[in-house]
Amino acid sequence: MLIDGKLVESESGRRFDVINPATEEVIGTAADGTRADMERAVAAARRAFDTTDWSRNHAFREACLRQLQAALEAEREEIRGELIAEVGCPLLSTYGPQLDAPLSEAITWPADMISQFPWKRELPDKDAFGMGALSAREVWKEPVGVVGVIVPWNFPLEITLNKIGPILAMGNTCVVKPAPDTPFNATRLGRLIAEKTDIPPGVVNIVPASDHLVGEVLSTSPLVDMVAFTGSTATGRRIMSAASATLKRTFLELGGKSVYLILDDDGDISGPIEGSAFVCMHAGQGCAMPTRLLVPNSRYDEAVEIVTAAMQRTKYGDPTDPSVIQGPLISKRQHERVLGYIEKGKQEGARLTTGGRVPPELTKGFFVEPTVFANVDNRMTIAQEEIFGPVLSVIGFDDDDDAVRIANDSIYGLSGVVHARDLDRAKAVAARIRTGTLGINGSVWYGADAPFGGYKQSGVGRQCGIEGLEIFTETKTVSWPA
Ligand code: NAD
Repeated sequence: MLIDGKLVESESGRRFDVINPATEEVIGTAADGTRADMERAVAAARRAFDTTDWSRNHAFREACLRQLQAALEAEREEIRGELIAEVGCPLLSTYGPQLDAPLSEAITWPADMISQFPWKRELPDKDAFGMGALSAREVWKEPVGVVGVIVPWNFPLEITLNKIGPILAMGNTCVVKPAPDTPFNATRLGRLIAEKTDIPPGVVNIVPASDHLVGEVLSTSPLVDMVAFTGSTATGRRIMSAASATLKRTFLELGGKSVYLILDDDGDISGPIEGSAFVCMHAGQGCAMPTRLLVPNSRYDEAVEIVTAAMQRTKYGDPTDPSVIQGPLISKRQHERVLGYIEKGKQEGARLTTGGRVPPELTKGFFVEPTVFANVDNRMTIAQEEIFGPVLSVIGFDDDDDAVRIANDSIYGLSGVVHARDLDRAKAVAARIRTGTLGINGSVWYGADAPFGGYKQSGVGRQCGIEGLEIFTETKTVSWPA
């Protein structure tokens, strides 16, 4: 782990096993951080923030981020292999959101923005209390301070880079806690920071731990100013509640149950419907995956047939195979959880049209077949709860109003897809869906400059974009005699 600029073992001397979810083999061990390790890391981040000029030296921060970018790029191919081994993500996904997409901009875009960000804003001079004395006034943006960063296992490096890029660009210091399933991308990042950059000791600390609750220090410590979390809604609630004792800022990227909505135009809908099988990419382990396929009742049977065939064609198995779209689930626990939801779907009366089993030919690894449920009512558990597996539910609607009602009938509001031949109609429906991102007609909103986050219980705050820089700042209003 990286604490106060040094690459160290846990104070307990313990390490924990990391398992390849495609083979169930132990691929290595990581230092097992304790609460004491976490507290040392927090103290280091506090000292680095309070006693160095990191938070004020914009040019130095930009140079450090460029060094980090170069260091990551130099090890890109090792990172690719390591991500596939610890995350079980298909090789294909590393050319996009798992690795190459964030590597192209998650650090460089915030670095570019340091010189462009509106750090100061003038207000008009004012005699606020009518006492005949004008005051000059400005609004200054300043870093929040020490940020605790808690990361899940599904897109671990993507999420870590999209957090630390803006956090460091805005002048904060941080402690990163990776998920216990996927520590290696984070410990590698720690090594690169220590060995290949001038980022000062304490500015970034990386503390993996097998015990989830070691991360709780970041929500409770009075030395931490803010928690930036990506993970499940249940853990997000817990973090918000723990952070309330010290009134920490919380930035939460949580779960989703997004829709893939096909409006009832005439004509061929097979292309867009086939696209919904994309839910199998990385075995459905993406918070923004549109897992509810909403189709017009007038074309319901046709849609079920098309999507069932598309899911049956989806290639799953060894994630190192370049033609594989769907690899394993991350762990035995998730495997059991997803199979449990499939059972629940059957019990509640949904009709399984394909999949639903552990593939008999794959005797090792946490695999589940691409699965489609038809005859799903939106009130069923499989339509309401996040499954985080390769499971698609097909739900019928009567008209645009009904489609919007069903889309919004969820505690979540993270993402979604709308398809229609008439773009204006698609935009009008998109405007009524209460969700943080939406892709129309196969387009992609993703980017370091594009705010991402949730409405409702999908989260608080936005990652990336100007909003994702501002969230890591405090606001100070200052005046002096004009
Ligand atoms: P999780 O909530 O179980 O764990 C996420 C992280 O939180 C891990 O590092 C874990 O060790 C840590 N953690 C757990 N309990 C904690 C506590 N009490 N205090 C502090 N830290 C704690 O989630 P997961 O199973 O790792 O990830 C899957 C979830 O993440 C899904 O629900 C998915 O939708 C969500 N997710 C959301 C986004 C988004 O941007 N909205 C992105 C990716 C994943």
